[in-house]
Amino acid sequence: MYNVNLEIAAFLLSSLCLIYIMGSKKKQFRLSNINGNNFTDQHFIFINMLVSVIISSATSVSSYYLEDIVSQDVIVLQYLLHALYFFFHNFLPICFAQYVMNVSGTWKGLKSAFYILFTMPFTLCELMVMTNNFTGFVFYLDNDLVYHRGSLITISYAFGLFYYVIGFASFFRHQKAMSKSDRQTLGFILGLSAVGVILQGIRSDFAVELFAESLTLGGIMMMLEERSGNVDALTGVLNRNALMDDCRKLIENHKEFSIIIVNLTDLDMFSKLFNGRNIDSLLIQVSDWLKSISTEQDLYIYRSYDFAIVCHQTSDLETEYITESILNRFSKDWKTGGASFHLEALVSVLNSSDDISSLDELMEVLASTYIKTGLGSRLVSKDEFFSNQRNRKIEQSLRDAIEKKQLRVWYQPIWSVEEEKTIAAEALIRIDSDAFRGVSPAEYISIAEQSGIIRDIGLFVFEDVCRFLKSISDKDFGLSYIEINLSVHQFLYDDIAKHFEAIRQQYDIPAEKLNLEITESASIGDAPIVSQTMKALRSLGYTFSLDDFGTGYSNLAQFIGGHYKNIKIDKSLLWESDHNEKNAYLLDGLIRVIRSLGCNVVQEGVETAEQLSRTKKAGGNLIQGYFFSKPLPEDKFIDYLVDSIESEKEESEK
Ligand code: C2E
Ligand code: MG
Ligand code: MG
Repeated sequence: MYNVNLEIAAFLLSSLCLIYIMGSKKKQFRLSNINGNNFTDQHFIFINMLVSVIISSATSVSSYYLEDIVSQDVIVLQYLLHALYFFFHNFLPICFAQYVMNVSGTWKGLKSAFYILFTMPFTLCELMVMTNNFTGFVFYLDNDLVYHRGSLITISYAFGLFYYVIGFASFFRHQKAMSKSDRQTLGFILGLSAVGVILQGIRSDFAVELFAESLTLGGIMMMLEERSGNVDALTGVLNRNALMDDCRKLIENHKEFSIIIVNLTDLDMFSKLFNGRNIDSLLIQVSDWLKSISTEQDLYIYRSYDFAIVCHQTSDLETEYITESILNRFSKDWKTGGASFHLEALVSVLNSSDDISSLDELMEVLASTYIKTGLGSRLVSKDEFFSNQRNRKIEQSLRDAIEKKQLRVWYQPIWSVEEEKTIAAEALIRIDSDAFRGVSPAEYISIAEQSGIIRDIGLFVFEDVCRFLKSISDKDFGLSYIEINLSVHQFLYDDIAKHFEAIRQQYDIPAEKLNLEITESASIGDAPIVSQTMKALRSLGYTFSLDDFGTGYSNLAQFIGGHYKNIKIDKSLLWESDHNEKNAYLLDGLIRVIRSLGCNVVQEGVETAEQLSRTKKAGGNLIQGYFFSKPLPEDKFIDYLVDSIESEKEESEK
């Protein structure tokens, strides 16, 4: 009961699959997943299988229609069709085994003896087909041109079975190396093809095998080959799913590899600041560039702005070359939409043998990369990379501290050279908890910025300063204003101008008493949300200080615009000048320029009388530093102010 329709269906189905695959974007389909030798990669094998089914079914159907024509004219054609059928059909079992081994990640890196042994049965079968004209081992046509199985055809079935067994064995043995969905899909597909083969074995007239195989291939295409779910829509780079799948295979099969991790630390902030404008094209530019130094199939984007490059040859030279190229590139600007961006890339290298023992561990490490940012693009040491745990503890402690109301605001006096007294102070966060002993505010503020906790901290400090100012409003301590640190990340969450205004009005504090310190980087200055919010706050009476001047990317252009009342020169610049004459000369010049533009200079970090006189001589008019006082808790700060006023009085009475 030979049913030619099933074979026609097999032909149509596999032809459609081939057309679909060829017509689709190549990226969408699984590229050579592991270190691409094109001829053995999974996608190539898959196309091979499709072609085999197409030619096998085409030849089978054609010979069926030719069967009725008993004429010597068609005998050669008929013979050729049968031979072609066997020739191409023999590809299926070997490709099948190879395909399953690829999906389970076991195909690559085996001894060459294995590959020779593996292909031997296939080669033998093909030789039998090619010499069949003389031997008739595979098939023969009788005088009526009726097809008969040859005496050794069972050998070719046995070899076919051999490959199916390898495929099944590889599937069952390496299940752990596959993702759950790959495992289920492949299991179902293997079952389906097995049913087809068994049915065909039992009833040779029942032409179900090719149909089952074409269904199998259709299933593989839809579920395993189609990688649209594994490709990042924006950049076309393989995504986190793909990274997990591929690393699982490498880890479970004990293959050596390295992962180069590239964290673009400021893109998230830029994206929010610029409302995503230009950022997409920036990301595409970066990913295209990363593709050019790795290979497309080894590059993954595992979080919005974080890339991973998997290196299969674990030679240090290769990873070194890639990391150096990345750092070199990121030392230059990226340009998009007429704007230029200086991006910070943190590059870390992990080795499978030393650092990664399981997929879960790898994913956990990747999920929580809190590396010190703001220091420019650099290679991150392993110690720092794995300091995550400490950082996550700090993050948790920060949340606990907020909940337990352990945040405090301390004040560091700012002394005026002209008035010779304390006229302002900087509010600095402190945490009253053992968990923060030995942790500097700079460290936990950076963690708070990366985790979003900065929003709560910022609002707390602002409100506490207002409360403090209100509590001393009836006393004349001569405080003109309090400086409050404002992280640029605070601009991202919501309308801070609105929140600040609500709090300020609640405590009835004049806006002039509040000065906001910002650390700007070159690119942030142009962000509309920053400039608009600053403008709004300025129009309400708030003033601004540019903090940490002389570090990072803050530059002269920032204050020439006249948006800042104070420029705070970073302590590192002052300390460097202690023993470096050129630096001292530069600092003097800088102070003069800032003063001539009408801004105050606040010199931070003044610890010695010598530093004080140098700053005064250059024209610096406000001083903050341990020479006068360290940051003090509120009550001690009030004592300090009272003492200063008293000693001032005594001075004037003398
Ligand atoms: P910053 O805003 O530049 O604050 C000045 C830092 O220099 C303070 O460190 C202060 O204690 C320290 N300092 C001042 N004078 C001297 C000196 O003479 N010698 C030495 N050795 N240090 C001096 P602190 O309190 O550890 O804060 C570090 C950074 O943490 C701050 O740098 C600021 O960027 C951040 N920060 C502190 N409080 C807050 C806050 O409430 N909000 C935000 N967003 N950031 C804050
Ligand atoms: Mg500050
Ligand atoms: Mg500072």
